[in-house]
Amino acid sequence: DNATIHRRATELSYHDALTGLFNRRYLEEALETEIRRASRYDLPLSLNMVDIDHFKRYNDAHGHTRGDDALRVVARRLREQTRNADIVTRYGGEEFLIILPMTTKPHARLVAEKLRSAIASTVIDGGAGGPETSLTISVGVAQAGVEANSITQLMKMSDGALYAAKHQGRDRVVLAGGADQGR
Ligand code: GH3
Ligand code: MG
Ligand code: MG
Repeated sequence: DNATIHRRATELSYHDALTGLFNRRYLEEALETEIRRASRYDLPLSLNMVDIDHFKRYNDAHGHTRGDDALRVVARRLREQTRNADIVTRYGGEEFLIILPMTTKPHARLVAEKLRSAIASTVIDGGAGGPETSLTISVGVAQAGVEANSITQLMKMSDGALYAAKHQGRDRVVLAGGADQGR
């Protein structure tokens, strides 16, 4: 009926077709809400930005279809290794943003490290006759606060940390503003 169709359409518009994760549109709405809530009630909130390392190389070596399969595997691992309250989204391409409500930066780092380690040890099945492969991720971690009280600022901080992680050699977690600035 109409209600079902409407619910389905709404669901689709907030989900990524390839991985089933929440999409960028959902991320932006949810992050707005969570930043407002965190600020109003003085609750911790962190944002982990995850990017697959050398994914262009992976596609070049194994093809776009295997690349898509790998994205689904990574998405599933991220979902499995986080709590229900954590909002796991595919922001675009091979980049994932994870909203961590009620989470300080030191704890967000533990989450990020757990994800990094889980992905690095995941064997990606090559399908019919294809070789088994693996991937790594880099993660930038930032906590909302006075210096990051808008989507733009918080994303910029996570992105800066992610950039540093790439620069330092990938397959690692970097915290925005250093390790000791969480509340
Ligand atoms: P880095 O470690 O610096 O992140 O290197 P990278 O190769 O991962 O980064 P770059 O941004 O150069 O390339 C991202 C690649 O991700 C390019 C594109 O082919 C691939 N990609 C993005 N979206 C998809 C997708 O939906 N499916 C597949 N198969 N590949 C995708
Ligand atoms: Mg990448
Ligand atoms: Mg990228």
